[in-house]
Amino acid sequence: MPKEYDVVVIGGGSTGTAVVRDCAMRGLKSLLIERDDIASATVGTCAGMISSGLKYMEEPHIVDMCSEEVVHFNRIARHLIMKNPILTPMLEMGDLSSGGSFAEEYSKRAASREVPPVLFLTPEDSLKIEPKINPNLIASMYFEEFFIDPFRLCILQAMDARSHGADIKTYCEVIEVTTRDGAVEEVVFFNRLTRQKERVTTKTVVNATGPWADKVARMAGADLEIRLNKGAHVVLDRRVVNVGIIAKAVDGRMIYLFPHENTVLLGTTALDTWEDPDTLVTEQDEIEYLLKSIEWVIPSIREARIVRTMEGVRPLVADWKKPEGKVTRGYELIDHERDGVGGLVSFTGGKLVMCRHMAEAATNLVCAKLGRESQCRTHIEPLPGNESDVDVVSLAREYGVSQHAVERLRARRGTNATKVLEMTREHPEWKTTICTCEPVIEAEIRYAIREEFPRTINDLRRRVRLGTGPCQGTFCTFKAAAVFAEELDLDGQEMRAEIVDFLAERWKGKRPPLRGEQVAQEEVVQGVYACVANLDQEYTNYELKPWEERD
Ligand SMILES: Cc1cc2nc3c(=O)[nH]c(=O)nc-3n(C[C@H](O)[C@H](O)[C@H](O)COP(=O)(O)OP(=O)(O)OC[C@H]3O[C@@H](n4cnc5c(N)ncnc54)[C@H](O)[C@@H]3O)c2cc1C
Repeated sequence: MPKEYDVVVIGGGSTGTAVVRDCAMRGLKSLLIERDDIASATVGTCAGMISSGLKYMEEPHIVDMCSEEVVHFNRIARHLIMKNPILTPMLEMGDLSSGGSFAEEYSKRAASREVPPVLFLTPEDSLKIEPKINPNLIASMYFEEFFIDPFRLCILQAMDARSHGADIKTYCEVIEVTTRDGAVEEVVFFNRLTRQKERVTTKTVVNATGPWADKVARMAGADLEIRLNKGAHVVLDRRVVNVGIIAKAVDGRMIYLFPHENTVLLGTTALDTWEDPDTLVTEQDEIEYLLKSIEWVIPSIREARIVRTMEGVRPLVADWKKPEGKVTRGYELIDHERDGVGGLVSFTGGKLVMCRHMAEAATNLVCAKLGRESQCRTHIEPLPGNESDVDVVSLAREYGVSQHAVERLRARRGTNATKVLEMTREHPEWKTTICTCEPVIEAEIRYAIREEFPRTINDLRRRVRLGTGPCQGTFCTFKAAAVFAEELDLDGQEMRAEIVDFLAERWKGKRPPLRGEQVAQEEVVQGVYACVANLDQEYTNYELKPWEERD
């Protein structure tokens, strides 16, 4: 007999993990199905800005919603949150034109988010804060925004859902949603780990598959239109700037340069696309557009090395005949009752910052459909690790681990950092640093493998940021693979396949910007892996995922 659920949530991005958390917390028998790993698609390519939504000043209700969500995130996930100061340098009078109304709207909502109102700075003060700015500026605007680690947010939402009784299935691709008498009945999925087809029965399905939502809706015979919009980021090898920079691009759009962990993110482009979201790559034109645009305000930008690009597809509301920047950044929750498919609801639009809000709306609808009454608590109850403050200095001293490593542990795990450090009492050798860019110690890798259901080294990357720094895994992949193999009892062949898969994933982002100094860096990487274990023959010949296979 297929297992029966109240609700099946399809998609393990920010939206799906938030929905399954809310459903499970309200006592619904819930299942999340994700075809790859948690946070492996759009959300993993985003900048992680949980902004006050001021880019969308023409939609005041969205600005209010985003501002309120920032307050909620600061309550439930403050260990995952960073506050970044941002400067908007103005090089000519035209750059000032929209600054005034932005400042007014921002400042109105500043107190509730515990940030100062917008400040206008002189060139001298601006350069004191950020010496890399073009000295010809005439003024700058200073304000503060919050950022969240999108990978950790999704993992923690999924883990919290699991601790409230939900089942989480990764590497399972939904291939059919069957209906009977005008309502959903079964969800059929291909389990890529067992290579078996499985099915479950359910009364409600939440389609949270982002840019794939139209495909999943069609499986049930429902109609859904989305406006797919590609966005690319360039990742540079160091924190080029101390603060975030927002500036006008060559076409008048706003772009940004954000300090991001130990790199900086330059983004983003916004292009309507009709390509398959699975196969998009960043084009050279996009890289040059971003560099050329930011160069006006940060003239030395090209001195930094591009380590990779990353691209995602925004699943915008199907709002046509207007430029992308005018399309609503709100979301729509579609009840497919309208198409004669009862029990199915889909999302279009939305943002990372709205994921909790979107989940609350979907769960309210699901509860109404199931005739259940239960209040949402996702804005009150902390995510795992956010229970109390962590004293990094004392922990570093107590366990003999560097303060830097403990601080990074805290930022990923909050109070659960202690559980990782506790493992080093019995195994002091697990204090060894595996990934030096981050840094990540061996105990954290073992903890993540044991507690956070990674299936591959790539999954491990999403949990601990392994291999995401300037060296892009050159010096940590082997070491991490050895730990991974030991923990999961993999044989030599399986471990080798893991390494190849991880390097191939990194290669996808490294290939588009490959020129200049980055070519030399890549030669070193190829040399390292060619000489150890003779991986040069296999480097790009990796096994395609089912949805990457081409005829
Ligand atoms: C370049 C860029 C920058 C952005 N920056 C920001 C930002 O700074 N702040 C912000 O708030 N928002 C930002 N966004 C928007 C934000 O990233 C997205 O709105 C949000 O992450 C979408 O999350 P999601 O869960 O809906 O989609 P996704 O993360 O794409 O998740 C959908 C999941 O569904 C799975 N799936 C698909 N088909 C199936 C199937 N058949 N069976 C099982 N699973 C399936 C996919 O594998 C995927 O994991 C940005 C977007 C882009 C592209």
